[in-house]
Amino acid sequence: MHEFRELAKNVYAFVQPALIWYSAAGVIVGERDVIVVDSLTNETMTESLLEHIRNVTDKPVRFLINTHSHPDHVYTNHLFPSATVICSEECREKTREFQLNQALHDETFARLFPDVNFAGGRYTVQDMTFNGAMSIYRYNREIQAIELGPGHSESDVVVYLPEDGIVFCGDLFMNGLAPMPGEGFASAAIANIRKLEDLSADIYVGGHGAPGSKSDIEEQRTLLESLTTRSRQCYDRGMSYDEAIETFENDKLPVEFARPAVLSIYSELEGQLPASRTPADTSHMLVMSQLARRAEMLYRKSNP
Ligand SMILES: [Zn+2]
Repeated sequence: MHEFRELAKNVYAFVQPALIWYSAAGVIVGERDVIVVDSLTNETMTESLLEHIRNVTDKPVRFLINTHSHPDHVYTNHLFPSATVICSEECREKTREFQLNQALHDETFARLFPDVNFAGGRYTVQDMTFNGAMSIYRYNREIQAIELGPGHSESDVVVYLPEDGIVFCGDLFMNGLAPMPGEGFASAAIANIRKLEDLSADIYVGGHGAPGSKSDIEEQRTLLESLTTRSRQCYDRGMSYDEAIETFENDKLPVEFARPAVLSIYSELEGQLPASRTPADTSHMLVMSQLARRAEMLYRKSNP
């Protein structure tokens, strides 16, 4: 179900199928230690990741960078006891809020994602925060954590290795799924993807799915732009969100994949915060669970 892919010397991606709860992680080995980008949804996935790390180095994981606060990217922070966990200030705030509401999140996830394994996963606040950007240097390699602001999440952080032309994009890029403005508006997500396109890079590791290229993220951006244009046309005709979504039913893109984006675009047009600002909000999580189910169905079909 997963793969540990070498992207450059001492740089790896832990890649899982393009499914909602199966996120990717980045691994960068330095002279004395290891830097990891994002933790995972459950203990089993994390054990696999740690085993792959142990296969390439016996150095300890010193830093864990969270790209954003969503559970599939922070849920096993506590399973990296030797690491200082770093994230944006916004991300830590959000993680703290989620941690205080852990019971509510547990209940929502169990109800909407009954088949997902969350064993050993929970919110744990990070140790260190930054605003804007920060760099860590290992083996003459600069490892930049860049905060782009709200887009997919409360504030999207990407990890950029300029010497290698590699970007760990978090969920601004979901290869094989669809762009998903969560806490941010669609327009902000589009702006953030453009910033990724402006980086000098060839390898874009999405938060989900296999690593892709610059043209793959461009494709996600144009898809989000076209969903925006069409949603706006529906809105201008006075259609409700439910009526608008019907016009996406016969697209090549499964309608479940379009829903989170259209919901967010409608929120923006109506001048409201996206429904997903509260991750336990049922309408957003319901849409996510439909998407998760459809993605799983498509995956099973192509991997019998
Ligand atoms: Zn994710």
